[in-house]
Order: sequence, then structure tokens, then C-alpha cells
Amino acid sequence: MEGSSRPMRVLVTGGSGLVGKAIERVVKEEGGAKEGEEWIFLSSKDADLTNTAETKAIFEKHQPTHVIHLAAMVGGLFRHLRQNLDFLRKNLAINDNVLHTAHEFDVVKVVSCLSTCIFPDKTTYPIDETMIHNGPPHESNAGYAYAKRMVDVHNRACFQQYGRRYTAIIPTNIFGPNDNYNIEDAHVLPALIHKTYLAKRDGTALEVWGSGCALRQFIYSLDLARLCLWVLREYDEVEPIILSVGEDDELTIKDVVDSITEALEFTGPVIYDTSKSDGQLKKTACNAKLRHYRPDFTFTPFYTAIKETCDWFASNYDSARK
Ligand code: NAP
Ligand code: GDP
Repeated sequence: MEGSSRPMRVLVTGGSGLVGKAIERVVKEEGGAKEGEEWIFLSSKDADLTNTAETKAIFEKHQPTHVIHLAAMVGGLFRHLRQNLDFLRKNLAINDNVLHTAHEFDVVKVVSCLSTCIFPDKTTYPIDETMIHNGPPHESNAGYAYAKRMVDVHNRACFQQYGRRYTAIIPTNIFGPNDNYNIEDAHVLPALIHKTYLAKRDGTALEVWGSGCALRQFIYSLDLARLCLWVLREYDEVEPIILSVGEDDELTIKDVVDSITEALEFTGPVIYDTSKSDGQLKKTACNAKLRHYRPDFTFTPFYTAIKETCDWFASNYDSARK
């Protein structure tokens, strides 16, 4: 960190995933790294972070001064509905191992990743950073939500007990290249890109799950990566910060479908399967805190980002995670 005598050596857990790959691109191709810095991007092949001994061994090996902690069991609504307990247990284990090992290795700063889906289900809108613990999360993803909430509890206790300034970001739904495009497990955007690609290729209908009325805010992984670097370097609070587009940029799932079909030039029929869940109807987040710090930050226009993502998926169909 600026001001520290040691050159920054940043360990990125989850470095092989959607967000990790975007950070790697910003660091390596957009001049995101500074002179003398070292950036290490981990995958689960380097260490299973649910395992305490493997977590300690990877910290011992790399001796990081800073950690961006992205590694997690991640998935869309329909994976959560099937595996709520796994989300709870795996993410509790990963987060406790990473945060406690970081402290043991005298890591200066950890930026962990929460999500706007961990907020209370019954709430007033827009949701802000002060409201994380104000009531139970939506039951569809309660396991993941409680595990993620504990990161905030851990960070506060670690500050109270040891004075560590470990913090967390709270992104909305993320999308971009290198996402998980598995139809059953993925988040809505990658799942629908994959489904639309197949419907166009095979001349079949596009099946959307749920009514299409649920509202979501989306952030492009590269915008999030740029903001993550800012948080790592400049943001000094233990309190988390929501990283989101504005409330006015909230979209219905149907808006998303329209953008994807346009980007992939799909003109066939679109069916909404209303027997499937809509999940949380909305989780409108407020980005006033981000805007206070970064009034200048420009988000990539949604359609531009969708088009880039669809083009990436079509060009990388054979190797994409799916
Ligand atoms: P992702 O693409 O699924 O990547 C997950 C990463 O975690 C991969 O690098 C994976 O490694 C690693 N990982 C999983 N289990 C691990 C384990 N046991 N040990 C070590 N590494 C493990 O996820 P993402 O979308 O980039 O998510 C990054 C962060 O953002 C997560 O903390 C997630 O909760 C949060 N988030 C995501 C969204 C979203 O819409 N995607 C929204 C809000 C917040 P392998 O590649 O080796 O499997
Ligand atoms: P969430 O934002 O945490 O609820 O998770 P998702 O990214 O999985 O988004 C779920 C929303 O997208 C719900 O309203 C679903 O009904 C809707 N949706 C529509 N089609 C799909 C699909 O093919 N996969 C997923 N995961 N969600 C879909």
C-alpha cells in the first residue's frame, strides 16, 4: 500500500474466475500495476482454500502484503436453490481460512467480495451499506448470504481486536468474459447468453426461466476490476462499499433478454417459463457512497458490455467454462 515500506505483493484468490481474470487484464493490459509491484493470481489448483493447511502453505509461499479475496463457491439462483448448505459451509471455510491466515501473515490489507444478494429480503429501498445485518436474507440464497455476512463481522472484529483495516466490496450482479456459462448453475446473464447462442445455432426457442419481471443491476467485470484496484489502493474504511451502477440503471430480466437477443442477432421465439422461480424480485442498491468517492467514474454502457461479452462467448465457445 502507498506509504508502506514493503513493495506491494498482491495475492488474488479466485484469480482464475470472472472477476479475477478481469483484474488480471486491468493489471497487465491497462497499466493497473505500479512499478515494483507483484501480482499473483490463484486458482483452486494452487490451493484448496477450504483447507486450512493448504491456505497457510500458499501464503507461506507467496508472502503477500495485500490480498484481493474473490475465491468462493459462486452460482446463480437455481444453483443456490439446490445447494444452499454447500454454499454456507464452503464459503464459511474459505473466508475464515483466508482472513485469519492473512492476519497471521501480517497482510496489510484484504479486500473481500460480498454481494448485493446478501442484504435483507424485507427492507426499504434503495439498500445501502449500513443495512447488511438488518434482517434475514432471501431464503433462496440464505446459505451464501450468511457466509458472506460473516466476512463483514470478521473484518469488524479483526479491526477491533488487532486494528487491521480489512474491508469488503459489495458488487451487484457481475458479467463479462471468462464467466461460468453453465446453463444449470450460472447467473442469469451468462446462462441466457449460452441459451441464446444454442437457440440460434439449433433453430430452437429461447427459454427464459421465471416471468422476466425481476429487477437487477449489472456491473461489467472490467468496470468492477478497475474499481477493485481503486479500493485496494485508496479506500481506507473497514465498512464495506457498494460497487454498482445507479438506481436508474436497474433493468428487468426481459430488458436483459432483449439486449442479448439483439447482440447475438437471435430472431426466434422467446418463451418465459413462469413455473420457474423469479428469486428476489429486486435488490435495488444505492451507489451514493461510491459516487461520493468517485463522482468521475464512468461505467461501460450496458449494451456495449453485453455486446463485448456475447462476442467473447461466441469466439471462445469451445474453451469457455460451461
Ligand atoms: P467465479 O468465476 O465462479 O470464480 C470463482 C473463483 O474462486 C475461481 O477462481 C475458483 O477457482 C475459485 N475457487 C472456488 N472454490 C475454491 C476453493 N475451494 N479454493 C480456492 N479457490 C476456489 O466467480 P466470480 O463471479 O469471479 O466471483 C468472484 C467473487 O465475486 C466471489 O466472491 C463472488 O461471491 C462475488 N460475487 C459474484 C457475483 C457474480 O454475479 N458473479 C456477484 C456478486 C459477488 P477455479 O477456477 O480453480 O475453480
Ligand atoms: P440472483 O440475481 O442472485 O437472483 O441470481 P441470477 O443471476 O441467477 O438471476 C436470477 C434471475 O434471473 C431470476 O429472476 C430468474 O428467474 C431469472 N432468470 C431467467 N432466466 C434465467 C436462467 O436461465 N438462469 C438463471 N440463473 N436465472 C434466470
